[in-house]
Amino acid sequence: MKQIILLILIIASINVNAQKKYFQQEVDFKIDVILDDENHILRGKETIYYKNNSNDTLRFILFHLWANAYKDDKSTYTEHEVENRDTKFYYSKEEQRGFIDSLEFKVDNENVNISNFNNLEDVILVELNHPLFPNQQIEINTPFRLVIPEVFSRLGHNDQDYQISQWYPKPAVYDTKGWHPMPYLDQGEFYSEFGHFDVNISLPKNYIVAATGVLENDNEKQFLTQIKNDTNSRNLVSAKEYKTLHFAQDKVHDFAWFASKEYCIEETAVTLNNGHTVQCTSYYKPKNKKKYEGSSKIIAQTITYYSSLVGNYPYDYASIVDGKLLAGGGMEYPMVTVIGNVNDKAELQTVIVHEVGHNWFQGILGSNERDHAWMDEGMNSFYEKKVDKIIDNLNAEKKEGNIQKLTKELNGNFIYQISAKQEEDQIINSPAASFTSINYGGSVYYKTAALFAYLESYLGTEIFNKAMQQYYETWKHKHPYPEDFKSIMEAVARKKLDWFFEDGLNSTKKMDYKIKVKKKDNQYVISATNKKDFKGPIPINAMIKDSIAETQWIEYPYQNTVTFTDNDTITAYKIDGKKMLPELNITNNFYEKNKLFPRFKCKLQLGTEFSVSEKNKLFILPAYGYNYYDKAMLGIAIHNLKIPNNAFQFALAPTYSFGSKSLVGTGVIGYSFFPKNIFQKIIIGLQGNSYHHKRSNLNTSKYIFARHIKISPSVLLEFKKPTLRNPITKTFLLQYFNISNQNFNYTLNPIDSLYRSNVDQYETAHYALLEYKHNNERTFNPFDYVIKAEGNHSFAKLTLTTHLKINYNVKNKAFYVRAFAGKFFDFKNNTNPFVLRNQYLNTTFTANNDYAYNDVYVARDEQKGILSNQVSMREGGFKIKTNLLSSPIGVSNNWLTTVNMRTDLPIKSMVKLQLFLDIGTYADAGILNPSGSKAIYEGGAELHLFKDILIIYAPFILSKDLKDYVKSTYSKNRTLQTMSFSLDLNRINFLQSQKVMNLFTP
Ligand SMILES: [Zn+2]
Repeated sequence: MKQIILLILIIASINVNAQKKYFQQEVDFKIDVILDDENHILRGKETIYYKNNSNDTLRFILFHLWANAYKDDKSTYTEHEVENRDTKFYYSKEEQRGFIDSLEFKVDNENVNISNFNNLEDVILVELNHPLFPNQQIEINTPFRLVIPEVFSRLGHNDQDYQISQWYPKPAVYDTKGWHPMPYLDQGEFYSEFGHFDVNISLPKNYIVAATGVLENDNEKQFLTQIKNDTNSRNLVSAKEYKTLHFAQDKVHDFAWFASKEYCIEETAVTLNNGHTVQCTSYYKPKNKKKYEGSSKIIAQTITYYSSLVGNYPYDYASIVDGKLLAGGGMEYPMVTVIGNVNDKAELQTVIVHEVGHNWFQGILGSNERDHAWMDEGMNSFYEKKVDKIIDNLNAEKKEGNIQKLTKELNGNFIYQISAKQEEDQIINSPAASFTSINYGGSVYYKTAALFAYLESYLGTEIFNKAMQQYYETWKHKHPYPEDFKSIMEAVARKKLDWFFEDGLNSTKKMDYKIKVKKKDNQYVISATNKKDFKGPIPINAMIKDSIAETQWIEYPYQNTVTFTDNDTITAYKIDGKKMLPELNITNNFYEKNKLFPRFKCKLQLGTEFSVSEKNKLFILPAYGYNYYDKAMLGIAIHNLKIPNNAFQFALAPTYSFGSKSLVGTGVIGYSFFPKNIFQKIIIGLQGNSYHHKRSNLNTSKYIFARHIKISPSVLLEFKKPTLRNPITKTFLLQYFNISNQNFNYTLNPIDSLYRSNVDQYETAHYALLEYKHNNERTFNPFDYVIKAEGNHSFAKLTLTTHLKINYNVKNKAFYVRAFAGKFFDFKNNTNPFVLRNQYLNTTFTANNDYAYNDVYVARDEQKGILSNQVSMREGGFKIKTNLLSSPIGVSNNWLTTVNMRTDLPIKSMVKLQLFLDIGTYADAGILNPSGSKAIYEGGAELHLFKDILIIYAPFILSKDLKDYVKSTYSKNRTLQTMSFSLDLNRINFLQSQKVMNLFTP
């Protein structure tokens, strides 16, 4: 008794922080609608009884017309989708789209003005002729016509299957914080007023309808019973005769319905602890019978366990609908949920638990999902995992092994870590639309759920459940905000929970807990710290294999130790033995008894890893390669590249060359810092390689080889973005190159009077590079530009390169422009052009010009043959090699500029084929070009293979100088001889995801 009084006092005092003077508007709906399934149109009328329960006088009401999100490519929905790189709606045809029109608003039978709101296509302002005073009610009427789009997100039709959601004109929420108008979004859900719904749906007689609310027609109930027991195939032609179905429901904030002529029906009734019986129905397509068999039982189980964990389900029905959905795996509406494509029964179970669970989190606890998505998605994910596991355990045949279970659990942490390790995660309590797609999953869903598991473990299940149940009882059918939730949790827990609410939900502070263990007689004295800045309590578990035998907590500032009395059954002491925390690093969380290295596990593994592990892992891979001199190369790549990646990364690939019969190879090492200032990230790196680039067998039986050794340290600075959804990345690179080269000298042998080649000493050259890169990766028309200054004591090059992709109005087709301008400075005023020839500016960039060994060339020193025709898309970006001339065409020691254009072809083809045109000019071109022409050009076709890694060029239009070059150099097979190719290994996806590999692309 005492306890209860104390509790009430605490709630009363803490509630001050929660919403002041709570009120909520009452909005009741009467909707009559008729489906025209030939033209996919709904015609209807709507009456809304709007009661102003606030203390404010309202002069207008904001309305959502969310069907207009599908009107054209200018809606907020479309823009957000395009930002998320989803262009399916953007490129849709007029007839696939939809909208709502024919509106004629009347308030209390008087015509009223409606106007645009904030230039949004799907929000309008309905002016009130007379102010709506507190406690007054008005009646709002309007007819409407809804042209149903195809399914792109949620509302839509798939032929004659209808998913009618977010469909009727609906007032925005007005609450203690004011109006909440919001355009429809795919990423970011709803916020709606509670009220009573009365909906009449007229449609051809042979449709089956699943909807929010209770069906009131007895003859329809008979029809459904008939259908349930009838396994014969249906007549899928729409009946001429129509029926009108009446659904009614109190205390819901939305009404959705789904109609198909095909649905099979499965039903299970469940009685809750309070005696309330709930009908659980699943409506599914005959083709999915196998997956959906038993699905109504899963609904019933979900209803049962959510009811006992959170609070009783208040409605009489709960159903799921097998539908088509392109926005996530499922979508919840009050009492009815639509499920998208699922692979198997196990996935279906998880989706059912999640979506039916949303009846609690957002259906009944009507939070503002747009501003605080964690309050439904995060909390619901926490319960989903719990209930999914309970149901797993009930269905013995579906039991998974330990490893599968562990990967399932770590899966979310894996996604979180991908962002968090790069300091690119986001604050959980942020507006839904501000998240990157990966953070919406990693932070809102996974991390929130993990924090709730953490909180439950810390408070103990009993107190935690009590607090959650109190939250439910207090806020059901209302609009709770984070502060309301916080005040209840802290009151029931009787402590401040800043680590959970501040560090956990309102910051991106990180956890990397580390254990320290001392053994004293038969006691283990354990301390722990956080290497990062999250101030949460640390759970120390005594483990018996995989299960927790005892838990003690070390609280911030982690000065206390905890003592465990040991016994033989204890196998280990661990931080977070169940791996529930959203930690960044779990390799320092354990002390395993009776091990040589109790706090360290390492493993050598083949390949790489896409997961979170306690082990420090080294990976090995077979390494192979080929160049003309080293021939086949075979070796082992040793690396620690993985996803999520580490701050310290390295990859070494020593290989044995079967051509030169010696060791060659490449390697890169990098360390990333996240300084939290103007720079998002700084990578200090070192890369190097050593291969052979020349060979000679002049008058000898064996080849001799010339080698190069490259050592290149660098610093890459990446500027912080204003927001993480911003597509612009700006980087600054400072790189030094130490290049040691061998060459040949030729000596005359006096005995046989023949020249023989010898390998010279290494000659070392030093170069520096400064580079600024601006890269705008927006979905349409992305562009970048790179300013580079490179050189050493004898020369410098200042260059500007830019790329622009111009999207055609056809998916995956574009026009590409590249432009280059460069200026060369010769500090020594060399008169001998050969001294710096390779460094001069080039229209066609080849192996000769790659003095820093940045690219992989198959045959660096060869002058003839197809392998020698390798070019790089650097400098002038031309494709034709002219280096068989003593002074190649298109080289300048002063200035040079080019424009390179290419285009996709308006044809559908299996391969990516483009046309290109390159034009260039340079200082004294009119004098240097034999024809006297001031420009050169080439045009042709290019074939892209292996996702642009290998591109083959065939130039067939050449300017006079290039044409003359080809004529004079090649006597036959001219077309083949002028063909060239480029090889860009940096495009390999896995390498791109490894941030250290930026260093490979200067
Ligand atoms: Zn959800």
